[in-house]
Amino acid sequence: MRMMDTKAKFIVEQLDNLFPAPQCELNYKNVYQLLVAVILSAQCTDKRVNVVTKELFKEFDTPQKMITLSQSQLEEKIHSCGFYHNKAKNILSMSRDLIEKYNGEVPNDLELMQTLAGVGRKTANVVYSEAFGGEAIAVDTHVLRVSNRLNLATSSNPYQVEKALMQTFDKKLWGKLHLQLVLFGRYVCKAKNPNCSNCPFTKYCEYYAQNKHNM
Ligand code: SF4
Repeated sequence: MRMMDTKAKFIVEQLDNLFPAPQCELNYKNVYQLLVAVILSAQCTDKRVNVVTKELFKEFDTPQKMITLSQSQLEEKIHSCGFYHNKAKNILSMSRDLIEKYNGEVPNDLELMQTLAGVGRKTANVVYSEAFGGEAIAVDTHVLRVSNRLNLATSSNPYQVEKALMQTFDKKLWGKLHLQLVLFGRYVCKAKNPNCSNCPFTKYCEYYAQNKHNM
Protein backbone atom coordinates (compact mmCIF):
# COMPACT_ATOMS: atom_id res chain seq x y z
CA MET A 1 0.00 0.00 0.00
CA ARG A 2 1.20 3.52 -0.84
CA MET A 3 2.38 5.66 2.11
CA MET A 4 0.62 8.98 2.02
CA ASP A 5 2.70 11.98 3.03
CA THR A 6 1.84 14.34 5.90
CA LYS A 7 -0.02 16.78 3.69
CA ALA A 8 -2.13 14.06 2.05
CA LYS A 9 -2.98 12.59 5.45
CA PHE A 10 -3.95 16.02 6.77
CA ILE A 11 -6.20 16.67 3.78
CA VAL A 12 -7.93 13.30 4.20
CA GLU A 13 -8.46 13.90 7.95
CA GLN A 14 -9.90 17.36 7.43
CA LEU A 15 -12.15 16.30 4.57
CA ASP A 16 -13.42 13.47 6.78
CA ASN A 17 -14.24 16.07 9.45
CA LEU A 18 -16.01 18.34 6.99
CA PHE A 19 -17.80 15.63 4.98
CA PRO A 20 -17.87 12.40 7.01
CA ALA A 21 -20.44 10.67 4.80
CA PRO A 22 -20.26 12.30 1.38
CA GLN A 23 -22.94 11.38 -1.09
CA CYS A 24 -23.48 11.91 -4.76
CA GLU A 25 -26.09 14.68 -5.10
CA LEU A 26 -27.62 13.27 -8.28
CA ASN A 27 -30.82 11.27 -7.77
CA TYR A 28 -31.02 7.84 -9.42
CA LYS A 29 -32.53 4.41 -8.86
CA ASN A 30 -30.32 2.22 -11.03
CA VAL A 31 -26.95 2.34 -12.77
CA TYR A 32 -28.45 3.33 -16.10
CA GLN A 33 -30.22 6.30 -14.54
CA LEU A 34 -26.97 7.37 -12.88
CA LEU A 35 -25.15 7.22 -16.20
CA VAL A 36 -27.83 9.38 -17.88
CA ALA A 37 -27.76 11.84 -14.96
CA VAL A 38 -23.96 12.16 -15.11
CA ILE A 39 -24.10 12.84 -18.86
CA LEU A 40 -26.72 15.53 -18.21
CA SER A 41 -24.66 17.07 -15.40
CA ALA A 42 -21.89 18.37 -17.70
CA GLN A 43 -21.92 22.17 -17.39
CA CYS A 44 -25.10 21.97 -15.34
CA THR A 45 -25.95 21.85 -11.62
CA ASP A 46 -26.99 18.58 -9.97
CA LYS A 47 -30.11 20.37 -8.73
CA ARG A 48 -31.23 21.18 -12.26
CA VAL A 49 -30.41 17.62 -13.44
CA ASN A 50 -32.55 16.20 -10.62
CA VAL A 51 -35.51 18.35 -11.69
CA VAL A 52 -35.17 17.13 -15.28
CA THR A 53 -34.60 13.44 -14.50
CA LYS A 54 -37.50 13.33 -12.03
CA GLU A 55 -39.83 13.81 -14.99
CA LEU A 56 -37.73 11.98 -17.60
CA PHE A 57 -37.34 8.76 -15.57
CA LYS A 58 -41.06 8.52 -14.84
CA GLU A 59 -41.45 7.02 -18.31
CA PHE A 60 -37.97 6.59 -19.73
CA ASP A 61 -35.91 4.81 -17.07
CA THR A 62 -34.29 2.06 -19.15
CA PRO A 63 -32.27 2.13 -22.40
CA GLN A 64 -35.07 0.25 -24.15
CA LYS A 65 -37.62 2.90 -23.22
CA MET A 66 -35.22 5.79 -23.84
CA ILE A 67 -34.64 4.85 -27.48
CA THR A 68 -38.37 5.07 -28.19
CA LEU A 69 -37.81 8.85 -28.01
CA SER A 70 -36.68 10.71 -31.10
CA GLN A 71 -33.69 13.04 -30.83
CA SER A 72 -35.97 16.10 -30.83
CA GLN A 73 -38.36 14.62 -28.25
CA LEU A 74 -35.47 13.94 -25.89
CA GLU A 75 -33.99 17.39 -26.54
CA GLU A 76 -37.26 18.93 -25.46
CA LYS A 77 -37.25 16.97 -22.20
CA ILE A 78 -33.66 17.83 -21.25
CA HIS A 79 -33.58 21.32 -22.74
CA SER A 80 -32.98 23.16 -19.44
CA CYS A 81 -29.76 21.20 -18.73
CA GLY A 82 -27.98 23.04 -21.55
CA PHE A 83 -26.00 21.52 -24.43
CA TYR A 84 -29.20 19.56 -24.99
CA HIS A 85 -28.47 18.66 -28.61
CA ASN A 86 -25.23 16.81 -27.87
CA LYS A 87 -26.51 15.40 -24.59
CA ALA A 88 -29.61 13.94 -26.28
CA LYS A 89 -27.48 12.50 -29.07
CA ASN A 90 -25.08 10.93 -26.57
CA ILE A 91 -27.83 9.50 -24.35
CA LEU A 92 -29.54 7.87 -27.34
CA SER A 93 -26.28 6.48 -28.79
CA MET A 94 -25.15 5.23 -25.40
CA SER A 95 -28.55 3.56 -24.84
CA ARG A 96 -28.40 1.83 -28.25
CA ASP A 97 -24.84 0.70 -27.49
CA LEU A 98 -25.96 -0.78 -24.17
CA ILE A 99 -28.76 -2.74 -25.83
CA GLU A 100 -26.63 -3.96 -28.74
CA LYS A 101 -23.46 -4.85 -26.82
CA TYR A 102 -24.35 -5.36 -23.16
CA ASN A 103 -27.89 -6.67 -23.05
CA GLY A 104 -29.10 -3.29 -21.81
CA GLU A 105 -26.87 -3.31 -18.71
CA VAL A 106 -24.11 -0.82 -17.90
CA PRO A 107 -20.87 -2.86 -17.80
CA ASN A 108 -19.05 -2.98 -14.46
CA ASP A 109 -15.76 -2.17 -16.15
CA LEU A 110 -14.06 1.20 -16.40
CA GLU A 111 -12.53 0.59 -19.82
CA LEU A 112 -15.67 -0.93 -21.38
CA MET A 113 -17.78 1.91 -20.06
CA GLN A 114 -15.60 4.38 -21.93
CA THR A 115 -16.28 2.59 -25.21
CA LEU A 116 -19.96 3.64 -24.95
CA ALA A 117 -20.93 6.56 -27.15
CA GLY A 118 -20.77 9.83 -25.26
CA VAL A 119 -19.09 8.37 -22.18
CA GLY A 120 -15.73 9.93 -21.40
CA ARG A 121 -13.26 9.19 -18.66
CA LYS A 122 -14.80 11.46 -16.04
CA THR A 123 -18.31 10.11 -16.55
CA ALA A 124 -17.07 6.51 -16.45
CA ASN A 125 -15.06 7.18 -13.29
CA VAL A 126 -18.06 8.69 -11.49
CA VAL A 127 -20.35 5.78 -12.41
CA TYR A 128 -17.71 3.11 -11.75
CA SER A 129 -16.98 4.38 -8.25
CA GLU A 130 -20.51 5.48 -7.29
CA ALA A 131 -22.51 2.55 -8.65
CA PHE A 132 -20.01 -0.31 -8.50
CA GLY A 133 -17.78 0.76 -5.61
CA GLY A 134 -14.81 0.72 -8.00
CA GLU A 135 -11.54 2.47 -7.23
CA ALA A 136 -11.56 5.56 -9.41
CA ILE A 137 -11.16 9.28 -8.91
CA ALA A 138 -13.20 11.42 -11.26
CA VAL A 139 -11.89 14.91 -11.94
CA ASP A 140 -14.62 17.44 -12.59
CA THR A 141 -14.34 21.22 -12.51
CA HIS A 142 -14.40 21.33 -8.66
CA VAL A 143 -11.79 18.61 -8.19
CA LEU A 144 -9.59 20.25 -10.82
CA ARG A 145 -9.76 23.68 -9.18
CA VAL A 146 -9.24 22.47 -5.59
CA SER A 147 -6.37 20.17 -6.59
CA ASN A 148 -4.54 23.05 -8.26
CA ARG A 149 -5.18 25.49 -5.42
CA LEU A 150 -3.85 22.98 -2.91
CA ASN A 151 -0.91 22.22 -5.17
CA LEU A 152 -1.85 18.56 -5.35
CA ALA A 153 -1.51 18.99 -9.10
CA THR A 154 -0.42 21.72 -11.44
CA SER A 155 -2.38 21.15 -14.60
CA SER A 156 -5.58 22.19 -16.32
CA ASN A 157 -5.79 18.74 -17.90
CA PRO A 158 -8.22 16.52 -15.92
CA TYR A 159 -6.35 13.31 -16.73
CA GLN A 160 -3.04 14.76 -15.50
CA VAL A 161 -4.77 15.87 -12.29
CA GLU A 162 -6.35 12.43 -11.92
CA LYS A 163 -2.93 10.79 -12.25
CA ALA A 164 -1.41 13.15 -9.67
CA LEU A 165 -4.22 12.42 -7.19
CA MET A 166 -3.88 8.68 -7.77
CA GLN A 167 -0.18 8.93 -6.97
CA THR A 168 -0.82 10.95 -3.79
CA PHE A 169 -3.74 9.16 -2.14
CA ASP A 170 -4.39 5.53 -1.19
CA LYS A 171 -6.43 3.67 -3.77
CA LYS A 172 -9.12 2.69 -1.30
CA LEU A 173 -9.82 6.40 -0.64
CA TRP A 174 -10.31 7.49 -4.26
CA GLY A 175 -14.09 7.18 -4.55
CA LYS A 176 -14.80 8.93 -1.26
CA LEU A 177 -12.16 11.56 -1.91
CA HIS A 178 -13.77 12.45 -5.24
CA LEU A 179 -17.10 13.09 -3.52
CA GLN A 180 -15.46 15.07 -0.71
CA LEU A 181 -13.45 17.25 -3.10
CA VAL A 182 -16.58 17.95 -5.16
CA LEU A 183 -18.48 19.02 -2.03
CA PHE A 184 -15.51 21.02 -0.76
CA GLY A 185 -15.27 22.81 -4.12
CA ARG A 186 -19.00 23.36 -4.36
CA TYR A 187 -19.57 24.74 -0.86
CA VAL A 188 -16.23 26.00 0.52
CA CYS A 189 -13.52 26.42 -2.11
CA LYS A 190 -15.85 27.99 -4.65
CA ALA A 191 -14.49 29.30 -7.93
CA LYS A 192 -15.33 32.89 -6.97
CA ASN A 193 -15.04 34.08 -3.37
CA PRO A 194 -13.83 30.88 -1.73
CA ASN A 195 -14.56 30.72 2.00
CA CYS A 196 -10.88 30.80 3.05
CA SER A 197 -11.61 32.09 6.56
CA ASN A 198 -13.34 28.77 7.33
CA CYS A 199 -10.90 26.54 5.49
CA PRO A 200 -8.46 24.19 7.24
CA PHE A 201 -6.06 24.14 4.29
CA THR A 202 -4.69 27.70 4.23
CA LYS A 203 -1.17 26.52 5.06
CA TYR A 204 -1.09 24.36 1.94
CA CYS A 205 -2.97 26.67 -0.38
CA GLU A 206 -1.31 28.45 -3.31
CA TYR A 207 -4.39 30.57 -3.93
CA TYR A 208 -4.50 31.70 -0.30
CA ALA A 209 -0.80 32.53 -0.28
CA GLN A 210 -1.27 34.76 -3.31
CA ASN A 211 -4.53 36.40 -2.28
CA LYS A 212 -4.57 36.59 1.55
CA HIS A 213 -3.57 40.27 1.59
CA ASN A 214 -6.62 41.19 -0.47
CA MET A 215 -9.06 39.19 1.64
S1 SF4 B 1 -7.72 28.51 1.55
FE1 SF4 B 1 -9.38 29.25 0.23
S2 SF4 B 1 -8.71 28.86 -1.87
FE2 SF4 B 1 -7.42 27.66 -0.50
S3 SF4 B 1 -8.36 25.64 -0.42
FE3 SF4 B 1 -9.17 26.82 1.28
S4 SF4 B 1 -11.04 27.77 0.51
FE4 SF4 B 1 -9.87 27.05 -1.24
